[in-house]
This record gives sequence, C-alpha cells and structure tokens, in this order.
Amino acid sequence: MVKTGPIENHRFREEGAMVYPVYSRRSRGLSVGVNLFPGGKVCSFDCPYCEVFPFKNDIEFSLKTMESGLRRVLDEAAQRGETVRDICFSGNGEPTMSPHFIQAAEAALRIRDEGAPAADLVVISNGAGLLNGAVFTFLRNAARGAAHLRLWLKLDAGTEGWYRQMDRSALPFADLIAKIREFAASAPFVIQTMICAVEGNAPPPDDAAAWEALVLDLPPGLTAVQLYGKARPAPEDPLASALPAAFLEERAASLGEKFRQKFPSPPPVEVFP
Ligand code: SF4
Repeated sequence: MVKTGPIENHRFREEGAMVYPVYSRRSRGLSVGVNLFPGGKVCSFDCPYCEVFPFKNDIEFSLKTMESGLRRVLDEAAQRGETVRDICFSGNGEPTMSPHFIQAAEAALRIRDEGAPAADLVVISNGAGLLNGAVFTFLRNAARGAAHLRLWLKLDAGTEGWYRQMDRSALPFADLIAKIREFAASAPFVIQTMICAVEGNAPPPDDAAAWEALVLDLPPGLTAVQLYGKARPAPEDPLASALPAAFLEERAASLGEKFRQKFPSPPPVEVFP
C-alpha cells in the first residue's frame, strides 16, 4: 500500500503503508516515509513513549511496491511543485532489523538520485543495527561516501539504569555505546535523544551528566544533536509523559556550552519540545 497525498499523522503506517509523504517537524518540510514493517511493529527496543500503536495484518513488505511507490510519491510532489526534504526510513520499528534493509536503502538511494537528488536519505535507528557487521559497513560507507546517507541514532541515556527505563531493551547498553563510538570515529551521524518522564520521574542528574560526557566524546563523527520531547500520544500513556520545554532547553544549553569550550566548530544542539 502506498499513500501519495501528504498525511498529518502516522495512522496510515499502521494500515500497512510502505511509502507515505508526511509533513515532518524534524525535516522542516515534506518527508517521504519508508516503512519496512507494514504487517506489524518489529523492534529490539520497547520504549514506553513509542508512538507505534499495536496492530497486525498480513501485508508483507515488497521491494517492488516500495520502489514504484517511492517513484510515484516523488513524481506527485514534483507535480505539486513541492520540495521533498528527505526520504526517511523509520516506520513501524527498527528499520535495520528488516532482512530487506540494505537492498531497500540501496534502491531508495538510486530513486532519490533520479527523482529528488537534493533530498537526503535519512535512516532513523535505535543503534541496534550497528551490532550487525553488514549493516554497520553499509551505513558507514553510505554515510561517508557520495550517497550522503544521513544516520540519526537514538541515544536516550548515559547510564544503564535510565536506558533500562527509557528503552527497555535486552541489548547490552555497553555494546551499543561501543558501536556508536566506533561509528563516530569513521562516519558522520546525528544523535537523537528523547527527554521525557517515566512514571513521573525525569531523567536523574547522574544520567544527564553521563549522557553529556558520552556525547562530548563523539565528534568528529557527530554532526548534530537533537533533543526531543514527548509530543504525540503513545499506547502506554501515561507511563511516559512530557517534561516542560525549559527542561530540554536547559539540557541543550549545558551541552552547547561544553561543545563551544571543546570544539572550534561545535555541532549544533536543537530542541524539539
Ligand atoms: S526504538 Fe523507536 S520504534 Fe522501537 S520501541 Fe523505541 S520508539 Fe518505538
């Protein structure tokens, strides 16, 4: 299934859409989503703030459908005179867990080059894909090469304790951090951090300090940091809840100041409350 007209929310994704244009706050314009899991959520994390509502159908991912859908959506955007800011792999879960991920991303890069060469190809990942050698190599080569793939990596915590609450994953935190550090040494990427309360508790100060120390060590690969607030409903509401924008601004200001002290050209720190 392909949704061609822009949508305002992600309900189409839960009805089996593989390709859908959406106006995105983080892309600051029209983004074309690619969903590798039209049949149900697949993810190695279980974030309490996750916006993917439970659903199940028998739609299977098809590379052919994705390719033709992507071409059609790019054509239609061009006919409306709209600029596509990016093609974004996110969808119902962790895109790198799909057996089709590398093939689909390569196809999307080709179609991007033909139909919207100025658009970025963005992969939003919880980082678990970096633990897979083939995925790590593909992402590293595509991010630092002419393909200009942009990897947006989740890093919600600086400590094992807060990671367990925010991401509820069985993957060892230390392994993920080691792989993010390895990636940072060889290719560009963006860090995305969700800052919200879990069971009414904000991230503790020791976690904020550990997160900041971790992030400060990630340049030169780290090109930007995006701090997110909980802005959309989640099936587990009210387990996770939004914090005041000032809380996020304070975290951003603290990191920004330390970046400026350490680097002549510091990565930007943006807040999306
Ligand atoms: S990593 Fe993303 S898709 Fe997976 S549970 Fe967390 S928010 Fe949901």
